[in-house]
Amino acid sequence: MTRCVECKGAELRQVREPFKDAIPLTSGSDLDFLFDDVPQTLCGTCGERYIDDATLGRLEEQEARALVEGGIRDGAVFKFLRKIAGLKATELADLLGVTAVTVSHWENGHSQPDLADWATLGLLVEDYFAGRTTTLGRLRGLARTRAPKRKIHLSLKAANG
Ligand SMILES: [Zn+2]
Repeated sequence: MTRCVECKGAELRQVREPFKDAIPLTSGSDLDFLFDDVPQTLCGTCGERYIDDATLGRLEEQEARALVEGGIRDGAVFKFLRKIAGLKATELADLLGVTAVTVSHWENGHSQPDLADWATLGLLVEDYFAGRTTTLGRLRGLARTRAPKRKIHLSLKAANG
């Protein structure tokens, strides 16, 4: 970027400064995230700030971790975390055994997901950051299974390595 997108000014400089991001909650208030030190491009003419996609991705990851660890529940947070986990509403609905309309109601704040649904979404987000598909695989397995198996072979040797 050589010119400001907002004012076309050319007085751009790289800075590391505090940055505030926010998620508008379904309750009407904002949930603010305050970062103390974020690399950004600052326009000296209009004051507009620009953050590159890679940095933005890192900010969103930090936000998602804080939301999951803090157990913060709101429809907008649910939607944010679902997107972070890379899931469409219809995909998450299938995994949780609900309809896409139900997920839409959760995300609009018209109804509340169960605590177990929040916990599952948190696991999906953590798996995504860790590059795992453990929870995804289990949910897909549960969705597939219709009748219980008659025999499950186990070995203590295998468990001991
Ligand atoms: Zn500008």
